[in-house]
Amino acid sequence: MNPRWMHFSEVKASDLLLLDSEDADTMKRPDAPDPSAWCIHGTMHAKLPQVRCILHLHPPYGTALAALRDPEVKPIDQNTARFFNRIVVDRQFGGIADDRAEGERLAALLGNRNIMMMGNHGALVAGNTIAEAVEDLYFLERACQTLVLAYSTGRELNVMKPDVAEKTARGWDDYRGMSFAHFDAWKRMLDRKDPSYAS
Ligand SMILES: [Zn+2]
Repeated sequence: MNPRWMHFSEVKASDLLLLDSEDADTMKRPDAPDPSAWCIHGTMHAKLPQVRCILHLHPPYGTALAALRDPEVKPIDQNTARFFNRIVVDRQFGGIADDRAEGERLAALLGNRNIMMMGNHGALVAGNTIAEAVEDLYFLERACQTLVLAYSTGRELNVMKPDVAEKTARGWDDYRGMSFAHFDAWKRMLDRKDPSYAS
């Protein structure tokens, strides 16, 4: 997990905390993680062993969509259709998470899906690999950007028919390998900018 309150731009590989979700003393450590992150991430990792990477953000467009009464990612282009019928929507926001029960609730809600729009909150993506989780989160934010921009016109959305949306979503399955190429490219971009993230 990220160290508590460390700015994302400063987190290096060696800063990441390797924690045991069953260790009751985790929050007593001097470098204990953020309490609400521990409630959500720690508990979800414990409950969903098949998930190797959980990413959670409050990205601008995803959060804007999550703040609407209808936070569904409607299929209006290729990127939005990627998520057709593949997102769990949490409509039970109850304040900043501070107990294990909230992590258990979210783990049960996510089940065997891997993407959650968290109403009044943000987005959460779970993946078997870091590259796939990053890819889903990247495309989710791009999809939300397109949808928010389309909404902002005030004109009626041209939502795809379900069969076309489903066909488009399945079309993305052939691009799973792109996650890894994309992730490697991200790292090369960081290497050119400042390679210290990897130390
Ligand atoms: Zn959050």
